[in-house]
Amino acid sequence: MAEAPALTVRFWGVRGSIACPSPAYVGFGGNTSCVEVRVAGRVLILDAGTGVRALGKLLRREGVREADILFSHTHWDHVNGFPFFTPAFEPDHAFHVFAGHLAEQGGIREAIAGHMHEPMFPVPLDVMKARLTFTDFRAGETLDLGPGVRARTARLNHPNGATAYRIEHAGRSVCYVTDTEHVPGRPDENVLGLIAGADLVIYDSTYTDAELPAKVGWGHSTWQEGVRLARRAGARRLVVFHHDPDHDDDDMAGIERELAAESDDAVVAREGLRLEL
Ligand SMILES: [Zn+2]
Ligand SMILES: [Zn+2]
Repeated sequence: MAEAPALTVRFWGVRGSIACPSPAYVGFGGNTSCVEVRVAGRVLILDAGTGVRALGKLLRREGVREADILFSHTHWDHVNGFPFFTPAFEPDHAFHVFAGHLAEQGGIREAIAGHMHEPMFPVPLDVMKARLTFTDFRAGETLDLGPGVRARTARLNHPNGATAYRIEHAGRSVCYVTDTEHVPGRPDENVLGLIAGADLVIYDSTYTDAELPAKVGWGHSTWQEGVRLARRAGARRLVVFHHDPDHDDDDMAGIERELAAESDDAVVAREGLRLEL
């Protein structure tokens, strides 16, 4: 019998900035950032972009009543699915929400409550009947997520701040590194330190190197920088993630071809992609 994976990773939303459902995007998917990690019998949810809605339905079907929700940050594309995460409306459920960029700015609970507030949204946070806990930490700290599971974190270079995670269990590691901008020719030491020797690195690849000069200051990186960082850090596998909503399936297929020519181990994220470590 094959050994059970230590970690499984499933992609529910791979897009950045704004959801882009349309026939030209069905191949890679139009939902915004949401990645599920199952480890040591626990469910970890990395960001609650629009992709988290379908994940919530799966958790309801499976009877999963508890999960940790780790936010990279609170820009719309990473939180917009949260009000539609139906398990959070159920009593006898528990969700533990973490963020590393708001300790000095009112905290993650206030940010989420402000997002679910009239006149922008009719259902306030208080209507969620699950037991919700909110933890603000400072990017760079390490989180203990239960027996044998920890998340190291690092600060990213992004407007209003963002946090990268490295989830570790049983000698395996997956890193979630979005959203972040790099300075060409100067590898980000925070990112390199976090992803050193990791099994899998999910990386903000919104742009291509050719597109980046027109987007300086927008807070995002390129798939080519992801390849360079993963190589330099000795990470085993790169996942190109947080696709530009302006990149339709044809554009993404082109990136996939270029990526394949550049690296044997890298993969472009698409909705439904499942990886085991
Ligand atoms: Zn984003
Ligand atoms: Zn952002």
